[in-house]
Amino acid sequence: MNPEETLLKEADRCVKCGICLPHCPTYTLTRDEGDSPRGRISLIQGIAGGQLDSARANRHLDRCLSCLACQAACPSGVDYSQLIDGIRASRQKSRGERLAHHLITHLPYRSWSRLGLWLYRHTGIRPLLRTLGGRRFRRLDGLLPDQARVGSWRSCYPAATSRQGRVGLFTGCAGRISDRTALDAAIAVLTRLGFEVVVPDDQGCCGAMHQHTGDPRTAETMATINHKAFADKELDAVLYLASGCGTQLAGQPLPVPVFEISQFLNRCHWPYDMALNPVDSAVGLHSPCTLRHQLKLADEPERLLLRIPGIRLIRLDQIQCCGAAGSYLLEQPEMSDALGARAIQQLRDLELQFLATSNSGCALQLASGLRQAGRKIRTVHPVELVEISLRERGSEQT
Ligand code: SF4
Ligand code: SF4
Repeated sequence: MNPEETLLKEADRCVKCGICLPHCPTYTLTRDEGDSPRGRISLIQGIAGGQLDSARANRHLDRCLSCLACQAACPSGVDYSQLIDGIRASRQKSRGERLAHHLITHLPYRSWSRLGLWLYRHTGIRPLLRTLGGRRFRRLDGLLPDQARVGSWRSCYPAATSRQGRVGLFTGCAGRISDRTALDAAIAVLTRLGFEVVVPDDQGCCGAMHQHTGDPRTAETMATINHKAFADKELDAVLYLASGCGTQLAGQPLPVPVFEISQFLNRCHWPYDMALNPVDSAVGLHSPCTLRHQLKLADEPERLLLRIPGIRLIRLDQIQCCGAAGSYLLEQPEMSDALGARAIQQLRDLELQFLATSNSGCALQLASGLRQAGRKIRTVHPVELVEISLRERGSEQT
């Protein structure tokens, strides 16, 4: 069966019932059938069948977030992920797209990137590049938090108490900048729990950005790099923080079991003398699409955070999708902005000290929206709240 026939066979399973429509963030925003899962499946059928090849069809397909809320809701079990990834793989990516993906997924691993980022932020390079760099670049720059630094980690952190095991930590590519504090917090919590934490310096990007933008071959190369990086290290598990990376890692043949950090912390033994101090704060808990619809681990961060005394947890289930979706926030700025603004609007009546989310892209998008709205809510990964709670009583909590 050729790739088009495979797509047509899967698309034929869609009975066009429309049950998925209210679950689709782009459809609920535009009310345009072309921006709905059902409409997109029809467009895929037209393109794969050779009856359709229009820029307008591709515009609707490009506006899909790959959030898979539709797939989770579909009673016919249509594999929408296969359809959207497959049709995107059949198209040539532009040089600009390839270059942008290469820079995002490779630069954070370079030893000179820390100095590069410092020079970028503290010299005249930034205004110059903002002028010359185009809209996509300016948008990326606008997401960069003020305190952004490229993380660097030792290859191994010893357990701080009776040893429970040895785990590998997956950093992610953009996460090395955006999740630096959260990754440090994860190391602090894991070592306090008695785990040795290995951070291989030869690990790479998970490949999700490539997989969902029509470049499965590069995604496979990334999988091979990560398999090698985490092999032969006598690990009990590999842990990730960003759920967007998790969806990709979960489908890869890594040499040891892979866990989301909250899921792992909920399963492991907590020493009786490891007291969590109260965090007297209202925390909005955002559930990324990847955690909810793809990994089906939405309850894990909540279970973890409920261990912390004093915390007032508010689930933000009303947010359908924040509009980050990997490179979507760069490539579909209008739709991404509109979804981001809708998410921030849905928080308007809530008095929160923290907004906790388990995905780097969502954290960047929501933090940027909160900054623009003048809201002083700190965006964190759930594991950061555990680390704050583990600190000495009276230390800074917000
Ligand atoms: S994708 Fe599933 S839920 Fe949506 S229209 Fe098709 S069959 Fe119905
Ligand atoms: S993946 Fe998300 S944005 Fe795309 S059609 Fe499905 S629900 Fe809509």
